[in-house]
Amino acid sequence: MAGESGLAVYLVGGPVRDALLGWPLLDLDFAVEGDAPGLARRVAERLAGGCSRDVRVTAHARFGTATVAFDSCAKDGGRIDLVTARRESYPRPGQLPRVTPGSIGDDLARRDFSINAMALPLTATGEGAEGGLLDPLGGLDDLRAGIVRVLHPRSFVDDPTRLLRAVRYEQRFGFRIDRATMSAMDGAVAKGCMDAVSGDRWRHELERILDEANPVAPLQRAAELGVLAGLHPSLGKHGAGLGRLAALACDGELEGEMVGPDECLAALFSPLSAVEGEGVIRRLRLSGRRAALSRDTIELRESEPQIRACAGKPSELARMLAGRELAAVSAWAALTADPVVAAALRRYAGELRLVKPELSGGALLDMGVTEGPLVGEILARLRDARLDGAVNSRDEETALARALLGRARAAPIPQGGGE
Ligand code: ATP
Repeated sequence: MAGESGLAVYLVGGPVRDALLGWPLLDLDFAVEGDAPGLARRVAERLAGGCSRDVRVTAHARFGTATVAFDSCAKDGGRIDLVTARRESYPRPGQLPRVTPGSIGDDLARRDFSINAMALPLTATGEGAEGGLLDPLGGLDDLRAGIVRVLHPRSFVDDPTRLLRAVRYEQRFGFRIDRATMSAMDGAVAKGCMDAVSGDRWRHELERILDEANPVAPLQRAAELGVLAGLHPSLGKHGAGLGRLAALACDGELEGEMVGPDECLAALFSPLSAVEGEGVIRRLRLSGRRAALSRDTIELRESEPQIRACAGKPSELARMLAGRELAAVSAWAALTADPVVAAALRRYAGELRLVKPELSGGALLDMGVTEGPLVGEILARLRDARLDGAVNSRDEETALARALLGRARAAPIPQGGGE
């Protein structure tokens, strides 16, 4: 379609690198010498006219970028990223760049690493139209040698998020960061360049690491290079959680696939105090489930003595853990060094949290319990009794409910007591 409009278009960056490495291609990135959002809209129209459904275009005029996402009747659907080939300048380090349209050569030169700065021409117009790989910055040699190399010494000052990107690629591909790149990284960290980058951008790059097949390795590497400490000092003070995850994965105690994003995030937060944790949550602007996971992991570590004390009392354990982010419970079970706590948390996550009385609230009303808080109180006591094995059938529950009702009529049921 670009060819029809006389636009030069290139496959660029990640897919070129991955194709050369023989890795599977997941997303396709294209650079267009011309209006990428305009081309994206035309592509979307044609896809919508074919067998693709739910075609969506998201365009960012400021950067000349667009994404076309679609569902397809033939496959699961897909996603195409198009960027207008551009030149970038960084008026203020760490802030978003100023961009102006440029050639494919300009576009490759503004990229992060040489291995991501190669392009494959796809149209009969434009540079390299005869069909060869465009590789003006030595990406292919670096790919062959297994080297992560920035394109200029100020690269990490301009955009410190590349610090996390460098360790992500190094660890994913088993490459090494070249010496000049490493000293540029050290310099950027030492100068405090990381402070200038917004929490949202850091969180985005951190999440890309958490989504890697093996997220522990790049996180450990980032810790070793002082990049985590540069993100927030508290993340640098403690590294025990990640070390434990790595050791467990090595011992084969933890299945490789279990070391996922949640375990890693929990490992980063687990050694922190609640106050430190809030500082990191604010810095990374974590919200929702991930913020809850982080807070709950810290609380679980701090409550270990209490968890240990009620490990043999299912109802107390269930009360103590109720409402906790389940991912935090599972993650701390993997991270804790205390086998009693680990077993208690696994038992709660696997079985105890699902235990419910057979009698419903409606059944209690039929037995003559008046609508109101007493219904919930009796249900909670029935659940406790189920958990502790004090009742094991509907009949036993009914007998206990009657007893509780009788007692409540005489005097209110105290909260949380055993039967
Ligand atoms: P992945 O395999 O992780 O998806 P990718 O190479 O496709 O890797 P993206 O983050 O999707 O990476 O970015 C697409 C391309 O844009 C990269 O290959 C790189 O050339 C360029 N790029 C991304 N982020 C930066 C950055 N911070 N600085 C310079 N270039 C970047």
